[in-house]
Amino acid sequence: MYADRIQQLEALQTPCYVYDTQLLARTLDAINAETASYPAYHVHYAIKANANPGVLRQIARAGLGADCVSGGEIRAALDAGFPAESIAFAGVGKADWEIKLALEAGIGMFNVESIEELEVINELATLFNTRARVSFRINPDVGAHTHVNITTGRAENKFGIAKEDMIRVIRSAESMSGIDFKGLHFHIGSQLLVMDDFEALCLRINELQEQLDAAGLYAPNINVGGGLGIDYEQPDEHPIPDFHAYFSTFSRLLQLREGQQLHFELGRAVVAQMGFLLTRVLYVKQATARQFVIVDAGMTELIRPALYDAIHQINNLSADSSAATALYDIVGPICESSDTFVRDYTLPVTRRGDLLAIRSAGAYGETMASCYNCRPLPPAHLI
Ligand SMILES: *Cc1c(COP(=O)(O)O)cnc(C)c1O
Repeated sequence: MYADRIQQLEALQTPCYVYDTQLLARTLDAINAETASYPAYHVHYAIKANANPGVLRQIARAGLGADCVSGGEIRAALDAGFPAESIAFAGVGKADWEIKLALEAGIGMFNVESIEELEVINELATLFNTRARVSFRINPDVGAHTHVNITTGRAENKFGIAKEDMIRVIRSAESMSGIDFKGLHFHIGSQLLVMDDFEALCLRINELQEQLDAAGLYAPNINVGGGLGIDYEQPDEHPIPDFHAYFSTFSRLLQLREGQQLHFELGRAVVAQMGFLLTRVLYVKQATARQFVIVDAGMTELIRPALYDAIHQINNLSADSSAATALYDIVGPICESSDTFVRDYTLPVTRRGDLLAIRSAGAYGETMASCYNCRPLPPAHLI
């Protein structure tokens, strides 16, 4: 794939990100087509997956809302044209300046993660003579079948409020003059490919809603977070995630109350497949036991392999696909042994100067890039 674009790609300075705006458009169309039959469903794009301004503008134009986890993301969302009312603001550690910024902008929802945070939001909202719309992030204590670094919905994780404390925090919110209680929020983890995890979440929310009913409370909004995964092994076979299976799981299992709105916060599923990291082979090094392809991109551009043991498909765009193959460890130039994209990987026989595409890198790639080793941040190109 993308081999037909080789001339255009050859002209780019590497390493860089390349984003396929057509695939992004098709993905957004697929989301909008699936949710069209559910008027109470609202999809917010999780900015932290990819905050490239061109990408954000395209997603805002498609009508999605935004899910932000910092003041900087709120600014990026507003700059890209997401309406303030469509912005949800989550995070365990919101600083005062971020809360003030969100209040001034008039964002749609604070997803509050502790009673301590609620008190600060109440104080600042009162000072600003306004009321903050608040949902509580409840830790549902359901397991998610994913890498341990990206589970967020277990009791031992730092996120959210214990479900046993739900009624108590809603009652305190109702007594605060700067707070409007608007709903419940959940987010159980990321890169979830089996619907079981979302099914377990639905059943847990049903239980919690019964507790609300019994207490005479009503949550106008339920937000089930994000986490839908993508196929890193076969990006060409599955360029668009199974949004039908995802949304229909909630429609089948989640018992919404009259008038309740259901919110989703998808990040990875929207942008991962539309991006790849373009890198050039610097050296093919024959070591004692292994053969290394050393490329000019490293963990500074794409940290997912080092941080989550992620394996991205890698294509050699310069080699003839009918060429003989060899086994390589594909590594970056950074002074860390974890700066390895993949081991024992089959590529067509690869040479210095070849262009490689590290696939499915549109999410948590550019946004997690760093300047370690005094490297410049990678540019990104929309094609
Ligand atoms: C990261 C995050 C998301 C998006 O997660 P994906 O796995 O990219 O869909 C949604 N909601 C919250 C609160 C998050 O922190």
